[in-house]
Amino acid sequence: MQGLMMDTQLTVTSIMEFAERVNSNAEIVSFTRDNPRHRCTYGEAFARARQLANSVAGWGLEPGDRIATLAWNDYRHLETYYASACSGYVCHTINPRLFPEQIVYIINHAEDQYVFLDLDFVPMVEALAAECPGVRGYVVMTDEENMPSTSLPGAICYETFVGAGSAEFEWPEIDENAACALCYTSGTTGNPKGVLYSHRSTMLHAYATLMPDAMGLSSTDVVLPIVPMFHVNAWGTPYACPMVGAKLVFPGSKMGDGETLAALINEEGVTMSAGVPTVWLGLLAYLKASGKRVDTLEKIIVGGAACPLSVMEDFDTYGVESRVGWGMTEMSPLGSTNASYASRDDYAEEAFAKIRLKGGRPIFGVDMKIVGDDGQELPWDGVAFGSLKVRGPWICSNYYKLDESDAHAEEGWFETGDVATIDPQGYMAITDRTKDVIKSGGEWISSIDVENVAIDHPKVAEAAVIGHFHPKWSERPLLVVVRAADGQDLTADEIMAWFEGKIAKWWMPDAVEFVDELPHTATGKIQKVKLREIFSDFAFPE
Ligand code: AMP
Repeated sequence: MQGLMMDTQLTVTSIMEFAERVNSNAEIVSFTRDNPRHRCTYGEAFARARQLANSVAGWGLEPGDRIATLAWNDYRHLETYYASACSGYVCHTINPRLFPEQIVYIINHAEDQYVFLDLDFVPMVEALAAECPGVRGYVVMTDEENMPSTSLPGAICYETFVGAGSAEFEWPEIDENAACALCYTSGTTGNPKGVLYSHRSTMLHAYATLMPDAMGLSSTDVVLPIVPMFHVNAWGTPYACPMVGAKLVFPGSKMGDGETLAALINEEGVTMSAGVPTVWLGLLAYLKASGKRVDTLEKIIVGGAACPLSVMEDFDTYGVESRVGWGMTEMSPLGSTNASYASRDDYAEEAFAKIRLKGGRPIFGVDMKIVGDDGQELPWDGVAFGSLKVRGPWICSNYYKLDESDAHAEEGWFETGDVATIDPQGYMAITDRTKDVIKSGGEWISSIDVENVAIDHPKVAEAAVIGHFHPKWSERPLLVVVRAADGQDLTADEIMAWFEGKIAKWWMPDAVEFVDELPHTATGKIQKVKLREIFSDFAFPE
């Protein structure tokens, strides 16, 4: 027997229409090049999204056509997200930090019809426009006053374009399984791969992120997404916040600027924020140097890379809960969150430190398992580690225009490329990327665990551990360190002494090398493939 419930489609349009009616007065504050404190309400932004949709309709695009954005986090980018997706097109967010040749590849592979770009990216896009012959026009996201003269073919000023459209617009009915957004992963090898989100997956993911142990948002929250809207949809906050009417504070191009972030937090009363560890290091450095505080901030979500314990402990001193989140582009992105802070009184100090560093427990909707080399499932005992696989309604079932992918070799599961343990309470801990595991004498060493200890040394700015050829053990860990500005006298012996008692003896690096900087991907992750290349001629001392 079928249930007798309405078959309402789960679409991004429904988030916008709901927010316009119910959360119309909630505020959106943005830092932009033309206004460091732009203010509007959801009601105003979504009315402008309708104007924008009217103007876009004049382009005569087909449903499903791709509209690209190369833009910072701000209200114009939000309007473009909604105007394109709710008109039946696909909002293709492009990471401006990718190499130009990767951007060209992505634009052509996605067959983007139009590109919306921030003022900051005009020179970069001018240089590559000739290689993207399929793009029919460019919209520069600024007003007339700041519109540059540009060689971009068919360049239009965003504000003029929006102003030309009527605010009367009938959003089309959209199938919930239709695509609404596209984001390419910036893998460390090979060409980027497209992840195509649907209205349904986006909506369900947004619902899930609102749960208390995930991001736990409500109408009283003020949210500062420092994670970019150009990569994995700013972890879904542009959809989740309008659902509950949380105030949004967008940092624009200032996501790496501790001073601006602190000012936005204090002046706008930010309660929750989300970002990668590097961003928090910047904010903490500014707070320490300036003596400022962030008293309204209640919690932050840290994800995208392993979080150093020192970052969490520093935030403790400011009364801010730091919560690890784990996920990836292919997962919309959230897969697990670590809300252990709520039960910290149940643990001794050292045990709590170990627990809080983990990737956390899966959020409802994400099914996880770890498997060994033979494909057999491993126990959730917190010790066995294996390849982490996931499935669920916001996890990609395939890549865009790619017939087969190794990641989908097992029917119904997606192989994340991460290696993890899962303990009996369901806390998952990432120990490595599959490609980065160090196999010493047949036993695995977790490079992340070794890095976590190294990075907590006060004289270390950044650290990476790679497996390097060893004649006896086949591979041994080589630690590569960037010294902190005020730790230039740091020696290898000092670091080795720091490891004593903190990790198993046989996990200790066999050598420490110092460099001025580590190679990073466009999303700020350490490029271990590159690092291994750099140290390919290295030999461990006898
Ligand atoms: P991306 O698709 O660019 O978001 O990258 C996803 C990858 O980032 C994951 O597969 C992990 O390897 C890594 N990652 C994300 N969150 C965490 C975390 N909390 N701890 C360790 N690694 C993480």
